[in-house]
Amino acid sequence: MRQHLIMGNWKLNGTKASVEALVEGLKAPVAAAANVEVAVCAPVIFLGQVEQLTAGSALKYGSQDADVHTSGAFTGENSPVMLKEFGCKYALVGHSERRTLHAETDAVVAAKFVAIQAADLVPVLCIGETLEQFEANQTNAVVEAQLKAVIDVAGIEALAKSVIAYEPVWAIGTGKTATPEIAQAVHAHIRAYLAGFNADVAAKVQVLYGGSMNAANAADLLAQADIDGGLIGGASLKVADFTAIIEAA
Ligand code: 13P
Repeated sequence: MRQHLIMGNWKLNGTKASVEALVEGLKAPVAAAANVEVAVCAPVIFLGQVEQLTAGSALKYGSQDADVHTSGAFTGENSPVMLKEFGCKYALVGHSERRTLHAETDAVVAAKFVAIQAADLVPVLCIGETLEQFEANQTNAVVEAQLKAVIDVAGIEALAKSVIAYEPVWAIGTGKTATPEIAQAVHAHIRAYLAGFNADVAAKVQVLYGGSMNAANAADLLAQADIDGGLIGGASLKVADFTAIIEAA
């Protein structure tokens, strides 16, 4: 049985004050959610603060990206080794906003996935189709290609030490959530595709849903057999909304 994982992606949001209020506010709901793991992916500049605030709490945290390099002349980048030193458990990789706004290719995403694991962090591999691809019935082919790019470089066993987040691009920040049936069908397809390489890995890997998950729709999505949690943007920025999703898991 796979544990549910509820993960917030704060994206480029927050102040010192809001980070403190959010983390403090999440401590009690996280402590009460014994069977659910909860994590937040903060902007790197707040990771030191999150490290201090979460001391003694079960709340885990991570970054929203990581560089392929561990150190060197790479101005502006963040090393996975540094993220590990700041207590991160997770690093998102291949978020659609990185793929589109920062031109990250499947090859870059695969290299980052490997670098993140090499630093002993858990990569959260984000995959998903655009609206155009969804309407052209290409969803399965798109997620297969995104997975294959990582499997080719990292190997299928590496996926067992990762998390996959299916985030249809058309559902991100749009208020248009995939229906539980649509999401479950894609999640099941992802698992079946992975089973073609290694059935144990397919059975073990957590596959999260992301895209306008909120307090109202979380329970129905999280009740699906192959949806093992959520990657939540907007609704992770408010204690009450994120708590409701944790409680639905
Ligand atoms: P929203 O929950 O704001 O749609 O964002 C989803 C997302 O991109 C999480 O990584």
